[in-house]
Amino acid sequence: MKEIIQDLSYSELEELILSLGEKKFRARQLAGGLTKGKRISEISTLSKDCKAKLLERFEDAPVVIKERFTSSDGTEKFLFSLADGNLVEGVAMRYKYGVTQCVSTQVGCRMGCAFCASTLHGLIRNLTAGEILAQVLLVNALLSSENTANAASEGGMSVKSARAVTNVVLMGSGEPLDNYGNTVKFLRNVTAKEGPGISARNISLSTCGLVDKMYALAEEGIPLNLTVSLHATTDEERRRIMPVARAWPIGEILKACQNYFEKTGRRYYFEYTLIAGENSDEAHADALIRLLRGKPCHVNLIRLNAVKERTLSPAAEKEAYRFLGRLEKGGLSATLRRQMGSDIGGACGQLRAGYLEKQGEDRA
Ligand code: SAH
Repeated sequence: MKEIIQDLSYSELEELILSLGEKKFRARQLAGGLTKGKRISEISTLSKDCKAKLLERFEDAPVVIKERFTSSDGTEKFLFSLADGNLVEGVAMRYKYGVTQCVSTQVGCRMGCAFCASTLHGLIRNLTAGEILAQVLLVNALLSSENTANAASEGGMSVKSARAVTNVVLMGSGEPLDNYGNTVKFLRNVTAKEGPGISARNISLSTCGLVDKMYALAEEGIPLNLTVSLHATTDEERRRIMPVARAWPIGEILKACQNYFEKTGRRYYFEYTLIAGENSDEAHADALIRLLRGKPCHVNLIRLNAVKERTLSPAAEKEAYRFLGRLEKGGLSATLRRQMGSDIGGACGQLRAGYLEKQGEDRA
């Protein structure tokens, strides 16, 4: 595999351009083209000679959109293929304020959570920073070209900024903090003003709770929304569904969250997936209240997206609303998230798992 140019920071692009004997301002043209989701070969402001030199060393298209699925609720799911043929997936969710894109950080995952499809085949490899970034660049380019086309067809020429993706969540396949260096590099490049310039405040990083890395992240000076996948109220119950709980107890996770808050001033978030018969009755709601009351945090509840390879099933909708009501009454800030895109395999890792299975069937 050749190198990935989207891995480079702006100053690294400048060094690269100078090393090729080009003028420094070409770095801006290169960065501008890449930020628009272009391939090296498509950047018309660069000379043929310059592009040829770049292409000797770098992949022209390290990530491509292989398939696109649109859900009845407008959610879009993308299957990306990487230069080595590996597949990862991403989701773009449309909200009133813009588009939130969910990106993958690893091919597969080694965390082994009992409800998650991403981990079914273990970890294949880490994504590079540029492979994570390219997911954002490609989807942004696609959606913004469609926005511009729609606005033009409606006679509205007032679209100043064509940027479509406004928010990024690291909640696709993989554990971002298990790919720490590349994830942090991605965060620096995606927030850079010479790149997409997405504000760190509009970025959420979700972790299953790798406590040592949560402390490290707090020192990076990136004020993003730190989200921990909690899913249980005691270590014993958590260990049943999340092997990582054997390494890090909930108490340590809460201390690392508090540290994150003190260092960044940002409140933190918990993901709590409601699983029937496991963690969604009133006693669990009360235990969660006792655990989190008074802390600067918000709880995102979501009903499990049933994964067919797994035996766990979602809590009933009524039970989910009852759980939410109880948390709120108990003084927690909480929301029950809509299950978006479940008709197109919206749950983490389901699309790739389905695809791999289909490939297996095709081969058989
Ligand atoms: N590894 C990270 C980020 C990826 S998973 C983490 O664990 O947070 C993103 C979120 O989706 C996590 O909260 C995860 O627990 C949740 N998730 C995974 N599979 C799910 C499913 N089948 N239904 C509902 N949520 C799921």
